[in-house]
This record gives sequence, C-alpha cells and structure tokens, in this order.
Amino acid sequence: MVADTHPEQVSAHGETPTEDAESDQKDIDTHLREIAEIARPTADEGHVAEHEDALGGADPNGFAIALIENDGTEHLEGDVDQVFPIQSISKAFALTLAMQKVDRVSAVADEIWARIGREPSGDPFNSLVQLEHEKGIPRNPMINAGALVVDDILLDHCSDPTAEITALVSELAGGDIGTNHEVAQMERDTSHRNLAVANLMADFGNIRNPVDEVLALYVHQCSLSMSTRQLARAVRFLSNDGVDPASGKRVLSDGLARRVTALMLTCGTYDAAGAFAFDVGLPCKSGVAGAIMAVVPNRLGAAVWSPALDDTGNSHAGRVALHHLAERFDLSIF
Ligand code: GLU
Repeated sequence: MVADTHPEQVSAHGETPTEDAESDQKDIDTHLREIAEIARPTADEGHVAEHEDALGGADPNGFAIALIENDGTEHLEGDVDQVFPIQSISKAFALTLAMQKVDRVSAVADEIWARIGREPSGDPFNSLVQLEHEKGIPRNPMINAGALVVDDILLDHCSDPTAEITALVSELAGGDIGTNHEVAQMERDTSHRNLAVANLMADFGNIRNPVDEVLALYVHQCSLSMSTRQLARAVRFLSNDGVDPASGKRVLSDGLARRVTALMLTCGTYDAAGAFAFDVGLPCKSGVAGAIMAVVPNRLGAAVWSPALDDTGNSHAGRVALHHLAERFDLSIF
C-alpha cells in the first residue's frame, strides 16, 4: 500500500511544526507502524548473508526503522536498539574521516580523488576484474577496493586511525560505539578476496601501507556495532549541510557533505543504486548485515534494519520500507 496522501508532518529543518506537535508525532508514528507492517513480512523473500557471520549474533528476523529529525525528534518502530555490525555502511564514515584529514578545501582534485573514482561500479562490491582493467584505481569509495584505499589514506594521516574512526562514529551516534571482536576476527580469517584486492592495488602502487594493516583497519570499521537508532542519528550531519545537528559541530564543509551524499546516491547500494534512486529517491548506504541508512536533506536521518537481503545484497524489507517512507512523506530528492 502506498498512501496517496502526503502527510508532511515531518517538519522542515528548523521549523516548528504548524499543527499540534503531539498529534503530529502520533500521526508519523502511526504511518511508521503501518510501513513496518507492510515491509517486515517481505523479508521472507530475501536471504540472510551466509558467507560470514555478518550479523554478529543479532536476530536474523529482526526489523527496525528509525527517523530522527534534525531538531532531535525521534520516530521509532521495531528493534531500534538492537546492535549489529555496520559492515559496508562504515564506508561512508571512513570517507568522511578521510575528507576531514585531506580534503577540507578541495573536493575533487586531491589525494583522495586521484586514487579513487566516482562512478558506480556495475560489478560486485568486491570484484577483482574491474580493478585489473582499471589499473588499481577503484571505481568509487563505496566498494571494498575504494574503502581499502580510503583506509590506506587514513593510515597515512591519522596517528591512530582505528581509534579515530571509532571516535567519529561515537560522536555522531551520541554514545560509545563498540567493536564486535568475533566478527572482526572471523572477517580477518576469511578475507581472502579483500586481501587479494588490496594486494592487486598494492601492485599498482595504489596501496602504500602494508596490506595487513590496511585490511585490519577495514575489518575494524566493518565490525563497529551500532543500532538502527544510532545510525539514523549518526547520518544526520549529511542532512544538515555537514553540521551535526546534535552538537552544532561542523563535521564536513557543506560542499564535501554533498559529495558524500552524491556518492551514496550513485554508489551506496551495491548494484541497485539506479533502482534505489528510482524507487526511493534518497542517498542511501547499505551493509551486508541488513541495515540501510538514508539522508533526507535538510530534514532528517533515517535507518532501517532487516537482515534478509535481496539479490543485490540490500536489505529486502529495508528497501520496501524506504520506498513506502519516501512515498508517504514525499521525501524523494527528485
Ligand atoms: N565486511 C564485508 C566484506 O568486506 C562487508 C561487506 C558489505 O557490507 O558489503 O566483505
């Protein structure tokens, strides 16, 4: 069901809702409950990732959706405080940290963008073939190869990159974020392909630090454990021109925040970025544990979580939920 009304109770940034706030809140929450009722059962059509214990012990049948407005108002439904490894979603935060380090001024012509492209890959997120053809330059920072180069850059610019990325997500999420050490260990033991990708790029001169150090940082960021509520909160700096609305602190310049959201839109959902733009119309980043975080510019951060994935590796029910959310509240950027 897609409502043909656009309730528009989700307030624009900085505005006071025109109607009574309590009834607005109730209306949004009712819609959210209905969206969850529609989306949750569709998880049966997906499958939980099998190649690794990507969930870190979280319930494979869990479901959560969280909207957090830039003024701090929260709309929550389901298991919003269940934590899971953020996996590929960490790529957006690692890129943010790299931009903080080396890209504050120039958005395009610098150390990051000479080494990583800005195009959708059209190949699996961990493909070696494309990388060989393109001489070790990854298509974008949202695929594994690109994230490994981002981590290589972080190793050059951070005295303790593991601590710094943890600190960044903790600050954005509004609480201490931990690592799932079992997931990290298991990923380290089974990262044969990521190691191959890193070694191939090292051969082309695009990984400059020891590959095991680069991989250790990548595995760390993937195993950071966050809840749906924390993800919705953490992504809000991208919906607020680069400023974390909770602290008022600038995380990135507005120009750079726009670059991160542009890459999320074009490259953030594996090989389904076109379909996400079409069906949802929001910059999103997904991960193999079944979470998707989304940016609604100038309004709110959103996150959904449901572990069963579709054939493109995105949360099946999460994608359905985001579609209905965007439709009901008229949230598409297009
Ligand atoms: N740690 C996973 C890997 O590199 C992340 C995959 C993902 O979330 O897409 O294989």
